[in-house]
Amino acid sequence: MLRFLLPLLATATLAFAQTSPSMQRPYGLVIHGGAGVIQRNQMSPELEKEYRAKLAEALHAGYAVLDRGGSALDAVIATVTVLEDSPLFNAGKGAVFTADGLCELDASIMRGDTLQAGAVAGLRHVKNPIKLVRDVMENSPHVMMIGEGAEEFARSRGHERVPNEYFHTGFRRKQLERAKEKESRANNGTASVPLDLTSPGVGGEDWFSREQKYGTVGCVALDRQGNLAAGTSTGGMTNKKFGRVGDVPVIGAGTYANNATCAVSSTGWGEFFIRSVVAHDISAQMEYRGMDVADSAASTLAKVAKLGGDGGVIVLDRHGRYAMDFNSEGMYRAAKISGRPEIVAIYGDEPRR
Ligand code: ASP
Repeated sequence: MLRFLLPLLATATLAFAQTSPSMQRPYGLVIHGGAGVIQRNQMSPELEKEYRAKLAEALHAGYAVLDRGGSALDAVIATVTVLEDSPLFNAGKGAVFTADGLCELDASIMRGDTLQAGAVAGLRHVKNPIKLVRDVMENSPHVMMIGEGAEEFARSRGHERVPNEYFHTGFRRKQLERAKEKESRANNGTASVPLDLTSPGVGGEDWFSREQKYGTVGCVALDRQGNLAAGTSTGGMTNKKFGRVGDVPVIGAGTYANNATCAVSSTGWGEFFIRSVVAHDISAQMEYRGMDVADSAASTLAKVAKLGGDGGVIVLDRHGRYAMDFNSEGMYRAAKISGRPEIVAIYGDEPRR
């Protein structure tokens, strides 16, 4: 009798596990479109609608990949590509201008199962840096490539390349003009770089045009196989000079993923995020101190704030628990985890998890 019952029981249990949402492994993704001074009274209803629609479009592009069993890595690339192609965000088309009036792009990606990573900095012609970083990771022995060398690698791998003008937008051009005017006022007409980047009102805020929302984009994803991945892409900061590179292509600062802990993508004032090694610090707090995603994100951001920096992070763990935390006024953000309600948010008083 038992001989017949046991297989039946096993089949029934398996069928239940496959159909019951509570028994299924969670999967999904969290995205950001940059943190900064984002306030209701500075945003027209039309523009707000555009931002929310584009965030939702990017979220759904990544979720569709995960839903049909695709990898976290593929979901990150699908999502970030939508955001890079949109002029609304500071990545790909719509990137901020350097002091020389060019767009220079940085990006990185990491997978949580193998801890492989790829990064690029100072790109001027690659249409989608998020696609190139995957190639750096998978088809080169390196982790990071910069400038002309990275462009050459992109050419050799057949990536779509565009004139720098493709990235330019009038909105970012105005931001550059305003930043230059402020810089010139702060430096009494000279265009030198202020040494003190931390004292409000002295030089840092002007040089970095801190009052502008930053607009970097990023994504952390968890697939049905339980693997995590993270990716981030940016034009950096308005009026950047001297080949300045921020945290985004620095693995452990702008991007980090480890199946044992979490996947992280950062946005904010890059110099502070590099010094605080933000993405890895969040992972390390989970690994060494047993903290959860929300507490480790808050604790690391508090360290950034103590140094004088601001910005935000998205963090996702293997159980689908996530945080979208920031110490700036707002952060473009969205999340969709299987079996849970979808969130698209912008302002400080909207949900963070
Ligand atoms: N973190 C980026 C950078 O410093 C800027 C941003 O997040 O928007 O380059």
